[in-house]
Amino acid sequence: MTHAPALQDQFGRSIEYLRISVTDRCNFRCQYCMPLEGMQWLPKKDILSYEEIVAVVAQLAPLGLRRLRITGGEPTIRPDLPSLIRQLRAVEGIEDIALSTNGVKLPELAPALAEAGLDRVNMSADSLRPERIIAIARRNLGFNPVTAAMAAVRAGLSPIKFNVVVMRGINDDEVEDFARLTIDHPFHVRFIELMPVGDLRELTWEHVVPSEEVLARVATVGPIEAVEGPRGNGPAKYYRVAGGVGTIGVITPMSHTYCGSCNRVRLTADGRLRTCLYGDHEVNLRDPLRAGEPLEPLFRQALADKPKEHNLLQMKVGGLRALSQVGG
Ligand code: SAM
Ligand code: SF4
Repeated sequence: MTHAPALQDQFGRSIEYLRISVTDRCNFRCQYCMPLEGMQWLPKKDILSYEEIVAVVAQLAPLGLRRLRITGGEPTIRPDLPSLIRQLRAVEGIEDIALSTNGVKLPELAPALAEAGLDRVNMSADSLRPERIIAIARRNLGFNPVTAAMAAVRAGLSPIKFNVVVMRGINDDEVEDFARLTIDHPFHVRFIELMPVGDLRELTWEHVVPSEEVLARVATVGPIEAVEGPRGNGPAKYYRVAGGVGTIGVITPMSHTYCGSCNRVRLTADGRLRTCLYGDHEVNLRDPLRAGEPLEPLFRQALADKPKEHNLLQMKVGGLRALSQVGG
């Protein structure tokens, strides 16, 4: 079957990838993402039902949408996530469905998610040390990243990618430990530069560790070579420590932007289409959907307005909506 070519934005970027936030809530309070107090949660009536999310995807798939990522907030805390995956899987034209999760519920949910048609998982893992996991997530839920990732691998959800937000003086001394983990485990560890989004009261520019520094640390574990990334590779560049079964990647929103090849848009939990993570570029799809109006003209207009690039480097810490609110 031939699919429609993906729609292009005003800069010729083909838009085929939608990140769908299913909730703005979370069972963690990661230092770089959510403040401990004062979060304003969306009222339940404003949040798209699973049926509404599927209806949006069904209208966008004929316009060339191919790949989905379910995210949040923490998507696994929304009841019966497998039923959403199952319904999205049934939409014609959708080729790949991934999940971003903090991993806490993976041991319990991985088999049902895989059975429902989920393809793969990205898991946040900022530390391998129990006391530090609690300090960064500011919740003690007994989370063990390696156990959670192995549960996903056993369920057939692969490749499994780890997202590690590197913060100077907080977890940057674990870069080598994460690199060593890829020698024996089929994990793809991506080190992410801390971004100045949301209400980061305890974090400053001094906590940002550039990817060059991260790679220099990785190279102390063993010789590294640049390699092709795993399936579904987005903006990361990948490397392998000699003899490793997994890979290392770096995602560099701060030191090198990758906006030129950005193929993604986002759907917030309350049904707004955001064409860039940053700034005010959003279109309300929920109200027209609930009114029975077609979404295609709104989608076309949103793509025509997709900005060329973010301007994170000019932003002050705390000036933006947290990734948990926009569907990180
Ligand atoms: N709760 C899920 C999770 O943690 O993977 C999905 C949502 S979370 C907002 C998506 C990703 O955004 C995570 O990998 C997280 O590490 C990343 N993230 C959140 N705030 C960030 C920040 N200030 N800088 C860099 N990455 C951030
Ligand atoms: Fe929750 Fe993910 Fe944000 Fe951490 S990064 S607070 S797990 S949404």
